[in-house]
Amino acid sequence: MFIKQDMVFNGIAASGGIAIGNVIFIDETVLYLSSYLSYKKIPLNKRNTEKLRFYKAIDKTRYELQIMYKKVNSLLGYKYAQIVSVHMLILDDPEMIKNVIELINLGFNAEHSLCKVINKIINSFKNSKDNYLQERTIDIQDVVKKILHNLSGLKHNANILKHNKHYTIVVAHNLDPSDTVNMREKYIKGFAIDIGGKTSHTAILAQGLELPAVVGLQVISLYAKTGDTVIIDGNLGKVILNPSFHSIVKYQKLCKLQKTKNKQELKNLRDFQTETVDHHKFTIYANIDNYDEVQSVLQHGAYGIGLYRTEYMYLNNNCIPSEEDHFINYVNIVKKMNPYVTIIRTVDLGGDKLFKLCSLDKNPFLGLRAIRLCLKYPQILINQLTGILRASAYGKIKIMYPMISSIEELRAANNILDNVKYDLRKKCVKFDDKIEVGVMIEVPSAVMVIDSIVQEVDFVSIGTNDLIQYALAVDRLNENVANSYDPLHPAILRYIRNIIEASHNVGINVSMCGEMASNTYYTPILIGLELDEFSVAVSQITKIKKIIRNISFIEAKIFAKNILQCSDKHEIINIINTSKFGRKNYV
Ligand code: PEP
Ligand code: MG
Repeated sequence: MFIKQDMVFNGIAASGGIAIGNVIFIDETVLYLSSYLSYKKIPLNKRNTEKLRFYKAIDKTRYELQIMYKKVNSLLGYKYAQIVSVHMLILDDPEMIKNVIELINLGFNAEHSLCKVINKIINSFKNSKDNYLQERTIDIQDVVKKILHNLSGLKHNANILKHNKHYTIVVAHNLDPSDTVNMREKYIKGFAIDIGGKTSHTAILAQGLELPAVVGLQVISLYAKTGDTVIIDGNLGKVILNPSFHSIVKYQKLCKLQKTKNKQELKNLRDFQTETVDHHKFTIYANIDNYDEVQSVLQHGAYGIGLYRTEYMYLNNNCIPSEEDHFINYVNIVKKMNPYVTIIRTVDLGGDKLFKLCSLDKNPFLGLRAIRLCLKYPQILINQLTGILRASAYGKIKIMYPMISSIEELRAANNILDNVKYDLRKKCVKFDDKIEVGVMIEVPSAVMVIDSIVQEVDFVSIGTNDLIQYALAVDRLNENVANSYDPLHPAILRYIRNIIEASHNVGINVSMCGEMASNTYYTPILIGLELDEFSVAVSQITKIKKIIRNISFIEAKIFAKNILQCSDKHEIINIINTSKFGRKNYV
């Protein structure tokens, strides 16, 4: 077969670096196969729960299809929406449901029962002489894949990635954060996917793992197959499928050059102060998602961990971690980071990091997410805070609550913290009684009441990933609106200024742990806005430090002041590009 060479796909640069390798294509038909093979005997007393699990998956799939129907109807019209109607009919076919339930009653697990029933239907359709029936087999498989995803979905991709033993680049239509966590496996060199934006957690994880990644490629999954050669250029957001010999050589050289440059820069800057030419000091922290990254944080010379995202303890698990799980997880990090601080964010489940308690939300980004989930199910927070406090006896920890949208939420969380402290004292367990508590400012309502919030916290950290999403009404995962997801929107810059001013008025420090802090293009503005601390992807620490060390604080302040006067984004870009802080001078 003739294979077109050098097919170029342009997407969104999610994580820097270059990777060259062979594709492992995550195809959802594998999900189907592995579900069929994953036969499990269900004991008599668990069969009702298994049936309930199946019904819940059907309900969730129906809901997804209803949304899809509306979408297709408005985008493509009634004729196309009928395809989705057919899928709904397949989903609710009473005969199919009855047969699956019968098999569960006999002790088969839901996945296996479903595949068994469906295989029978598909075989009879395939053998039919009726073209219409033959074509319906594709629809049936489609619906079954959706149900299987809702039954046990995320784990299947995880298994494929875990068991892969070749150096590969993952290509897929989509990857969830929990899939990406498994890419920590040393064989995976990068990934390219059809959907997603720069601040999706899949992209953020890639940065943490220092894996080159391109997202929002729209159609790469239609072209790439397992075994194809591919180049990922995570700096430019470009993917080259079946590269020519010439392209491979060119990118191999680039890759080598970049590695040498990074190593040299790290060596030159690691031990220097993070201060401007006029000696104004800043702090650079790292954002991490797991223990494995701590070594790299220290090697890059960060002053601590400004954001430890703790959700990944939950994502590949079915139950809530115990206080002991939390303690063990944190104490190892804290001991290794000593004497530097570790800021542990209490869990931010929801959004694109779904756990069983929040997975039925119709709109997870506006649903039972983060602190709301914890306040509704306080045991989640009690376990976590107990683990954190116990670990605080072994090194410097600060606690940070995510998604605080009102002073009441902050107080409710602090009440739980006080109770946990009280219990530990009663049991004579040691902990840091003066542990500092801060909040992430990432919901617009919190900015509007920032003057009150700062009175009751020890520090704040700006979560621009969500702040931008909620302030501008732009889904951070949606590649179709990626252009509107804009840190330079005047509203966002004014939000940031207000947060910093209110915090400095009461003498507390402001950090930024959203991706805006990791992007060198924004560093001069953030310096000029007098941000105190940058909490960034490990791979960006040296780059941000280099910029800070080349800037005059006084000049940056004037620069930021001019920018804040603009209400038009184009004016802002013009000021940046014509100033000495434009990209060509600093990156
Ligand atoms: C943010 O919203 O900016 C942030 C750092 O949190 P997360 O990306 O985990 O939502
Ligand atoms: Mg956030």
